[in-house]
Amino acid sequence: MRPSIDPVGCSGVSRRSFLRFAAGASAVAGLPILTESHLALAQKFEATPSGKGIHIDANENPLGPSEAARKAVAEIIPRSGRYLIDVQEDLAATFAKMEGLGPESVALYPGSSAPLHYAVLAFTSKGKPLVIADPGYEAPVFAAKASGAPVIQVPLADPRGAATHDVRAMVAAAATPGVIYVCNPNNPTGTSTSRSDIEYLVANAPKGAIILIDEAYIHLADTAPSLDFVKEGKDVVVLRTFSKLYGMAGLRIGVVIARPDLLAKIGALGGWDAVPVTAVAAARASLVDPDLVPFRKKLIGDVRGDTLAWLKSQGYQCTPSETNCFMLDVRRPGKEVRAAMAAKDVYIGRIWPAWPNQVRITVGTRDEMLAFRGAFAEVMAGSTAGLALPQLPNRMDGLRLPRLS
Ligand code: PLP
Repeated sequence: MRPSIDPVGCSGVSRRSFLRFAAGASAVAGLPILTESHLALAQKFEATPSGKGIHIDANENPLGPSEAARKAVAEIIPRSGRYLIDVQEDLAATFAKMEGLGPESVALYPGSSAPLHYAVLAFTSKGKPLVIADPGYEAPVFAAKASGAPVIQVPLADPRGAATHDVRAMVAAAATPGVIYVCNPNNPTGTSTSRSDIEYLVANAPKGAIILIDEAYIHLADTAPSLDFVKEGKDVVVLRTFSKLYGMAGLRIGVVIARPDLLAKIGALGGWDAVPVTAVAAARASLVDPDLVPFRKKLIGDVRGDTLAWLKSQGYQCTPSETNCFMLDVRRPGKEVRAAMAAKDVYIGRIWPAWPNQVRITVGTRDEMLAFRGAFAEVMAGSTAGLALPQLPNRMDGLRLPRLS
């Protein structure tokens, strides 16, 4: 579908002014905070060398695109002097057909970060808050700041156990929510919210609220997807990305699935964003490969399982993740442990203010996780208080996420 070009949502914030806001809000001059990589970069120590060391800090997939995806990219490059709109439309149609959706309910974007922001801008405003779990993915909070919408952070239920969205508290959190954001499975905990809880949320959310379900990590988990709510015509927007299991974060492609009227409102803020044809070709090749999801899900799940088992054997608690990230309780300020790990060229993180003694760990390759284990054992064996920690400025300092009760 091709949305109309009207760059102002109900919040009255244009895409351009949002980008200006984001650039201003970021301590990284000129770099809008939009994606996981920006958020990871914002918390990185200034001296972090790029391309050196073990990077398990941005929920990336070190496997990269599949072989078939790489071949598809190479094959389309000679034709990429053209816009190839038909190739994009074919991908949207393929995705829709595979998921039993009409093509009018599917829109492609260069990643899911941009439509995530546009959705928050489109459906929240001063009188229509954003409701979000805490700890949760921070990007929607930055978008709400731009629209001037209040942000209501609802602590995860059972934080020492299942760490799921507290859907009853989220439903009760505001009388007129604009967006209730559910990341399922959740970033940073990697934990899933049950189908019955999502059903409760969709059935009981205050009238007019949009349920924004971010399924960035769905392919890695056994969690039930939520696309059927879109088929039923509910006020539900689902976000998918090829950045995680498919290993295409740098290629940039994502999909928004929603009723056409909701897609039009999101698209009004940025529906003209071009999707690179290389990413389109790689996404199509990945989608039609029946083995890719189960193969990678098992591979990443096995490494995650071994890492979690080892951490448990060492006496540490982690969230019961189903994805490529989990929260690790280091029982001391996570900031110190991150710094000590960085001094060993192992980059972990980030840290959520609600859980200051926990750090997020991304599941890397088996070798990367063995290196993580070695460095972590050394760091935790010495008191981090006694280590000469780099006292470097943190780009996140001064950036405060709004916290409203
Ligand atoms: N949503 C969640 C929960 C994420 O963790 C991420 C990236 O880490 C994104 C969305 C954005 O991904 P991308 O813009 O690369 O598609």
